[in-house]
Amino acid sequence: MAEHDGFDAALTRLAQARRLLVALDFDGTVAPRIDNPMEARALPQAEAALERLRAIPGTWTAYVSGRPIDQLAELTASDPDAFLIGSHGAELRIGADDGLRVSTSESARLEALADALEAAVKSAPGAWIEHKPVGLGLHTRMTEPFLVPRLHDAARAAAERIGGFRERAGHDLLEFSTRTVTKGYGLERLRNEIAARAGADAVVLFAGDDETDEDALAVLRPGDVGVRVGPGRTRADFRVANPTELAAALVVLAGRRETAVTG
Ligand SMILES: [Mg+2]
Repeated sequence: MAEHDGFDAALTRLAQARRLLVALDFDGTVAPRIDNPMEARALPQAEAALERLRAIPGTWTAYVSGRPIDQLAELTASDPDAFLIGSHGAELRIGADDGLRVSTSESARLEALADALEAAVKSAPGAWIEHKPVGLGLHTRMTEPFLVPRLHDAARAAAERIGGFRERAGHDLLEFSTRTVTKGYGLERLRNEIAARAGADAVVLFAGDDETDEDALAVLRPGDVGVRVGPGRTRADFRVANPTELAAALVVLAGRRETAVTG
């Protein structure tokens, strides 16, 4: 349903906005999904377009990811004052205020669940556990698909027994978090930060490829633009096939905005 005419017009409108926030999911959106998550990188075309956008007055860019924020900072080689949202909104780097305080009860629950998951993945070759500041991710991209449902059942049973986890399903990933915040919360925080700095609201472009991105799409307002990258049910108005198509759209946006604002 790539409504390309409508999308093209939307890019022109974004290019002309007084203030623009380009907020993007990272994995599967600007960085193609690959087997080793630590080797994921933004497509050079997308990265270059974002850099051009950041240089334009009244323009902000941000990554809104489920990854821990330190990892996100490392993978995106972001400068220290870049806007980053990590752990689905539980970690924010939008200037000076920062830092995530993890309670002892959270740590204890995370540890108990980690033990249970470590035991469970032994019977599912290729599966591995990612330790996040306030959550655990169960990765199954390299696991035989027929083994995955049983592994998920075991993980869910353990999480339920320990209690206090929010579950999130992603591509080849099941996550359990001790926080209930979403990418929608993270995006709202970003929006508020920019409004405080600029004295007025920014129009938002948000793009994502996964279930958790729907939470951010849900907080978009009239005039904002939401894009789904790849297949799947979505509330986004527009869809592109893959990160390459999104990067091409970002290049178009950067060019038009340079002309509109500085040209
Ligand atoms: Mg993603």
